[in-house]
Amino acid sequence: MILDTQTLDILAKAVAKLEDGFSQLPQMESQVDAAALERVLMEVAERMQDNYPYMHPNYAGQMLKPPHPVARLAYSLALFINPNNHALDGGIASSAMEKEAVAAIANMFGFENHLGHLTSGGTMANLEALWVASKIKPGKLVIASKQAHYTHSRITGVLGIPYAGVEVDSLGKMSLSHLERLLASEDVGTVVVTLGTTSIGSVDPLPEILKLQSKYNFRVHIDSAYGGYFKLVDNLDQATTASFELINQADSIVVDPHKHGLQPYGCGCVIFKDPGVGALYKHDSPYTYFSSNELHLGEISLECSRAGASAVALWATLRLLPLVKGGEFAHGLSASRKAGLALYQKLKADDRFVVPLRPELDIVVYAVKAPTASASSRLAKSVFDAAADQHLHLALASLPRELIEGFWPDLTWDQDTVTCLRSCLMKPDHLSAIDRIWDILSSVTDRELSRLTV
Ligand SMILES: *Cc1c(COP(=O)(O)O)cnc(C)c1O
Repeated sequence: MILDTQTLDILAKAVAKLEDGFSQLPQMESQVDAAALERVLMEVAERMQDNYPYMHPNYAGQMLKPPHPVARLAYSLALFINPNNHALDGGIASSAMEKEAVAAIANMFGFENHLGHLTSGGTMANLEALWVASKIKPGKLVIASKQAHYTHSRITGVLGIPYAGVEVDSLGKMSLSHLERLLASEDVGTVVVTLGTTSIGSVDPLPEILKLQSKYNFRVHIDSAYGGYFKLVDNLDQATTASFELINQADSIVVDPHKHGLQPYGCGCVIFKDPGVGALYKHDSPYTYFSSNELHLGEISLECSRAGASAVALWATLRLLPLVKGGEFAHGLSASRKAGLALYQKLKADDRFVVPLRPELDIVVYAVKAPTASASSRLAKSVFDAAADQHLHLALASLPRELIEGFWPDLTWDQDTVTCLRSCLMKPDHLSAIDRIWDILSSVTDRELSRLTV
């Protein structure tokens, strides 16, 4: 069995339990034409077959991870109510669950006080963090590394904030020398530190960046949309661990429960260290916020309507899998890291591949050896296609020359980038699938290389 259907019985039981809470109301007739609904749903099921198998370990490509069954079921259960976490008027229990879930995340990062909420994703979460940063440091520059998510340059464009990119070193981390040059010469208000870049999973050197903070007095925003949960993991390299250890020094942090946190899409999170930033959101709504003097999440969020179901799903997941070191959730993440290292070691030991970077988290990027940058790029694409024919799904990533040339001195640069293969080994069951993944990858690579020589 590939798709989990065993747990559907539990959903039916939980819906019956939920219904108990509304038993005082007059009965309602179901208006559903079950036969018509079934016809449509069967059509949907057929349409949805046209997808990569994201839930299966043979999907070892983009940053996609299936939600935990508890999240899927709790989300579905919540949809029978369909709460809106904008105001307590729209979602009483789900707003309380959101506050508890966000507090658990803030606690994982080591924030003693915090203000935060869920968002539709990492883009909106970062937008809020940079919007707050621009209110506190008006007119000043926001900078992030050139491997930071492209959303930062777009968001600052939307917000009208000046933005500049910081060079990266040969490991894809923010270059400290270029950072210091920018700090000395420009009016920098905020440094965005990425703990886990989206393309290669590199972790910016937070301890050294914080040392510069005392001299140059900037705000630190941490974008750990992808990497944040690795705070709980005990098998990272020393330098990587040192950055995660200091994450509580940030002014704001973003993490995406819908990336590594086992949630369905539509779940990002932004957290501020100073609860006082809530005052920046102040607005008067003529028609919400009447039911309670308690905090309505819409009073501290730029988005208005938001899925209460997201908060319910996250809360349920944290109940089953608490965010503790050594716990089952942390164990799943360390398995991903082990899977990343296992694939890295196989690639590294093999003459047909060039692996510029040892994975810091669980993303492995690898090139197929060829005399020129363009030939290697073409090979990566043909291996990508040939692997897909064998039901192994990889991803592609274009890497700049700076990240590759030190590791691959004899490559002829007839173009400035090399298209590499990329695998985000985000699922705990990737670890036991590495041998199978490797066998397919190895055999299709052989075939593609031999087609070149005949
Ligand atoms: C995914 C990601 C984002 C964007 O988040 P979305 O949830 O896709 O909107 C931003 N920053 C980093 C580091 C990411 O990995």
